[in-house]
Amino acid sequence: MEGEKKMENGRLIYRTPDIKDIASQFVDLARTHNWNDGKIEFLKDEEEILFKIVRAAGFCVRGVELGRLTIQDKFDVEGENGERKRVNILCPFKVKDLEGDDYIFATGWLDCILRLAVYGGMKRVEKESREKLIKAVSMEIEKSVPLESIMFTKDGDLLVEYPSQSYTSGNFPYFVEHVKDKNVLGPCVGLHDSCGGWIDFKKSSSICNEIVCRKCRKKAVFSNEIKTFGELRRQLELTLAFRQCVRDNNI
Ligand SMILES: [Zn+2]
Repeated sequence: MEGEKKMENGRLIYRTPDIKDIASQFVDLARTHNWNDGKIEFLKDEEEILFKIVRAAGFCVRGVELGRLTIQDKFDVEGENGERKRVNILCPFKVKDLEGDDYIFATGWLDCILRLAVYGGMKRVEKESREKLIKAVSMEIEKSVPLESIMFTKDGDLLVEYPSQSYTSGNFPYFVEHVKDKNVLGPCVGLHDSCGGWIDFKKSSSICNEIVCRKCRKKAVFSNEIKTFGELRRQLELTLAFRQCVRDNNI
């Protein structure tokens, strides 16, 4: 997640932005305007809030700017009807990636989170209170942050999560749920980023488990006390640092 690096007691601490604070600012902004009015004049501060929420959701972006994006409708694969689907329906802003190109998924996500903040929950049965909306928006930000990749060999091989699927149908197609550090390791834990193979998690011995790539067979072995993605990342960081130290000192 995009955050701020800060020195504390001689150590570099990675501080994540306060999600609730960003969600509050966003919900207040969402309630300020009639977003269906095409003639809203936006302040620089308001654009900054949109930029901040997209960044807090884990997207690597350069900024937001006024503009609409469309994609080819998936039911019109050949493009025969020439019909295109709007990505941002309510939000007049599109998102730019780090190269300055249109970022379709982030633009769709921003539109979904704005519709959530304006109209409320999935069922839109009643006008939600500000607090409920802030909570709902905060939860979506947290869900959308991707898993930090896990280095599992000294050559820098990475375990990454497999692409997330949208978990809602219809109203919020760009909301996805990512794997979290607290999630327990299952039989298949993700992908090997360089070869694209699936990575399995299995028993290695009576005291160890391993993760192994199905395609290139690269693997890492660790204690069977490691249960979650977060524990695995920390354990492998320690193991790899220890082995590096042994090599550096010719022990
Ligand atoms: Zn592999």
